[in-house]
Formats: sequence, structure tokens, C-alpha cells
Amino acid sequence: MVKDIQLRVSLKEEEIPDILLIKSAEWLSISREDISGIKILRKSIDARKPKIIFNYKVSVFIKEPVPETSEYHFEYKDVSNAKPIHIIGFGPAGMYAALRCVELGYKPIVLERGANVQDRRRDLKAINQDHFVNEDSNYCFGEGGAGTYSDGKLYTRSLKRGDVRRIFENLVFHGATDQILVDAHPHIGTNKLPKVVHNIRQTILDFGGEIHFNTRVTDFIIKNEKIVALQLNNSNELATEKVILATGHSARDIFYLLDRKNIAIEAKSFAMGVRAEHPQQIIDNIQYHCSGERHPLLPAASYSLVQQVNGRGVYSFCMCPGGFIVPAATANGEVVVNGMSPSRRNNTFANSGIVVEINADKDLHKYEQFGALKALEFQKDFEKLAFTSGNRDQTAPAQRMTDFVEGRLSSTLNETSYQPGIKSAPLHSLFPKIIGSALRKGFKAFGDKMKGYYTEEANIIGVESRTSSPVSIPRTDQLHHPEITNLYPCGEGAGYAGGIISAAMDGERCAEAATGNL
Ligand code: FAD
Repeated sequence: MVKDIQLRVSLKEEEIPDILLIKSAEWLSISREDISGIKILRKSIDARKPKIIFNYKVSVFIKEPVPETSEYHFEYKDVSNAKPIHIIGFGPAGMYAALRCVELGYKPIVLERGANVQDRRRDLKAINQDHFVNEDSNYCFGEGGAGTYSDGKLYTRSLKRGDVRRIFENLVFHGATDQILVDAHPHIGTNKLPKVVHNIRQTILDFGGEIHFNTRVTDFIIKNEKIVALQLNNSNELATEKVILATGHSARDIFYLLDRKNIAIEAKSFAMGVRAEHPQQIIDNIQYHCSGERHPLLPAASYSLVQQVNGRGVYSFCMCPGGFIVPAATANGEVVVNGMSPSRRNNTFANSGIVVEINADKDLHKYEQFGALKALEFQKDFEKLAFTSGNRDQTAPAQRMTDFVEGRLSSTLNETSYQPGIKSAPLHSLFPKIIGSALRKGFKAFGDKMKGYYTEEANIIGVESRTSSPVSIPRTDQLHHPEITNLYPCGEGAGYAGGIISAAMDGERCAEAATGNL
């Protein structure tokens, strides 16, 4: 017999070995010996009150063996001689489009501008230490896309739970910890992601797919409303019949190319702001109602904040407990920050994007001349501003949170995890008013919601500008572009995903559409 039950375990009880066995036997009024196994279905922490509780949902197996846990099985076909599908970009959307092609018996031919995960490390080192941005291989571009050297948080607001579980199980199949199947806030960690990405690459290659790194698509050759060839690295052409475009939100050259060729694209609303960085201990103390070090069984605490300021949303984005702020620019001459954390989330800082909604219809009148590229040009100017207000390298402009709100330059800054370094700058007077004023009110309001959050011990670091794509690429209900009928705009760059999991799910759907299996 199997019984699904909910258990509440206090922090003190969590230290007891076999606590789930003990509690399950008590709850079901049976002897412990009758329980042959317990499978955890869900685990979450409730820290709203000082008495912290671990909530478990478990299946208790009574006098019967615990079965195999997977709901999905992945069977890949030999596609060496199969019909090809060209996939541009090998981020989560491109990777899962390629895997799904192999499952469906089509040969994915992936074209990726950046380097493979191993070589990409050298490019990341160059950004952090030499302030040099390789414009094809960086924190956003290269094998695994923006998802590889990311935080690997796997939260999604997608309602298609079935598909979410499928992607989670596939990540586990490719080497991610099976803890992601049960945690309420699953997370892989930047140190573990490259291995998973490497394993996904290996599956694609083992079954006959192709992946070409250092191969940037630079033009589309179009005849009769179809792409007939892709130009690679500004030179040779590759004939094609179906193209999945999964180039991410930072591939500006692709947006410019589409616009130049009069292929419909649209300006999209998005959000921009800064990264706030606190000592992790401050966030732990607020969230866990404690002082000093947090309990060793508790993970680094996170937060999620949102506030309406003059009818505009200000909210936390991609919060990284125990993490690092990283330089996420894709070109020299711009500064962009983002965050990531290792699997153990054991760094001493907590960082989060704090961003302000930008409405493409209402807020960008000064940029109307750029048409569908107006939000992109606004974003670009913001990033150049960060570059010029730093040291004209990857040094990021920064201010103490309280100085930013009170409108004064910081004479000193707090320590930071941002490796290229930070420089005091008057961000309060530099930012466009719609962003600066909303952030100032937002930080004050966050301080009221989380006592201790609004503090001079926090830095704000500029700029957080790549939250989602500033452009969307239209597609029909069959997922192809309305004008170019063999082009499948896919993932975050086209406006159909926001994060690793939703991008992966969209990749699968585009592969199904391109192969006639939608
Ligand atoms: P991308 O991942 O952007 O991939 C696009 C790929 O296309 C890139 O590899 C790029 O090199 C390639 N490409 C671009 N142009 C061309 C071209 N012309 N020719 C060939 N190839 C091209 N999301 C989460 O869900 N959780 C997180 O914790 C998280 N943390 C993040 C941390 C950081 C530092 C960053 C930068 C992002 C983070 N994200 C996170 C966001 C997440 O990474 C993206 O939402 C996701 O990667 C989008 O997937 P995608 O495949 O649509 O695009």
C-alpha cells in the first residue's frame, strides 16, 4: 500500500536521523518496520514565523517496494542520415529544440556563435580580469547560452506543469541532482551546470546531430518567403529548409538583421534597473528572524519583493543568495550586471536585480525614430551610461543604497563580489527619471516590508538591463514567422520565454512545430 501524506518538521526535528520515518509511522499509526520506503515528493521551508518549519509531501510505501521514480523516459533515435533542422543558438531553447529533434527522428544541425563550455571559461576570465569582452563568447553567448554560467534557478511561472516536469527529469537524466525534482525552489548552481550542458551536447552528438561552435549566423538568404540559406561568419552559405531561431535576448545583430531585411519584429516592454548587494547575513537575519550565523540546516535565505510606484512595478529579479554579481555585457563599451550562485550558495553576499517596468508604448517617446528597435536602443544607451560612469572598462558604477535614495555620492563603498571592481558614481542623478525615481521609492518601500533591507551596508550596482528581450518576433499558432514560413522564432530572444525552464519548453515546442509534430 502507498499513502501520500504531508509532514511538518521543525528545525530541531530536522536534525534527527530518520525523522521522516518516525513521523510517517506516527502519522499513519503503524510500526516503523512496516514501512519499506519513503519517497519525498516536495520539500519547502516556511520561515514566515520565528519557528521555522520544513514542509514535506511524501509517499510512504507500506510493505511494498519503492518503484522507479521517473515519469518520463527519453529515447533518442539515430539521426545521422535523417532530415536536417537548422537551429541557431545553443542556449536552453536551442539545446532542448535539438534534443527533441533527435527524439522525433530529425537531425539537428546547431550553429552557435560562442565557444564550448570549457573554452568559454577563458573568455569569462578575460572579462573579469582584463576587462575584455569577446563579443561572441561571454556570460550570455557560448555553449549553453545565458543559462550555463547562470544561477541555475529553475523556477518558472509556466502553468504547463507536465512539460516542466519533463524538462526537470531531462536535466536529471543529463546529470543534474535529483533534488531539483522535490525542492520547492530548485537550483542547480553555476559550478554544476557546465557538466549538464556537456552531457546534453554528448547526447546530441552520439545520436548523429551536429553542433558547430564559433559559428555565427550573419545573414539569411531569402527566396519566396523562405530562408533558403544561412550565411555563416560573413562568408560561406549553408542551404536550409527549416530554421529554429533561438539566439536569446542579447543577440542584437540578429534583431538588426531582421529589421534591415524588413522581416516583422516588434518593440517589447521589459524592465531595467540595478543589482542590490547585501551581506548574506543581513538577509538571513531578516528572513530567519535570527542574529549572527544562520542555522547550518538552513540554506542561504532569499527574498522576493514587489512594489507599485506611481502605477509602475518595481520588483526583485533573479535573486541569488550566497552568490556573485557577474559582468554580463556582450560588447565592449557597455556595462551590464547579472547574478549567479554556486550549488551550495555559500558565498558571503546576497544579490538581486531590482528593476523597473518599462512600457514600450508609453515610456519611449524619445526613441520612436527607432521603430521596433526603440526598447533595444534605450537599453543600449543605459548600458553605455554605465560604461562611461564607471572607468570605461568593466568596472561598474555603484552607490550605497541609502546614498542613492538620499541623492548623495558615496564617499566609500561596501565590499562586493563583482570581480572587475566597482566605482562610486552618482547613479541617483544619472539614471533616466522613470528608473531612478521609481527605484528610490522602491528601496524605501522594500525597507518597510523587510526591516533591515534598506541599509547603508548594501551597494547598488549598475546596470541590470538584460532582464528579458526588448524585441519580440511574431509567430503564428504553428510557431513560424507570419512572413517567413520556415523560420521558427524561439525562446527568450523572440519573446516566448523568461528563464531556463520556459526557454527549454519553448525549444521543444518549436522542434515539434518544425518537424510537423505540434
Ligand atoms: P540564450 O540562453 O540567450 O541562448 C542564445 C544562444 O544563441 C547563445 O548561446 C548565443 O551565443 C547564441 N547566438 C546568438 N546570436 C547568434 C548568432 N547570430 N549565430 C549563432 N548563435 C547565436 N534563468 C533562470 O531560469 N534561472 C537563473 O538562475 C538564471 N540566472 C541567470 C544568470 C545570468 C548571469 C544570466 C546572464 C542569465 C540568467 N538566467 C537565468 C536567464 C536564462 O539564462 C535565460 O532566460 C535563458 O538562457 C534563455 O534561453 P535562450 O535559449 O532563449 O537564450
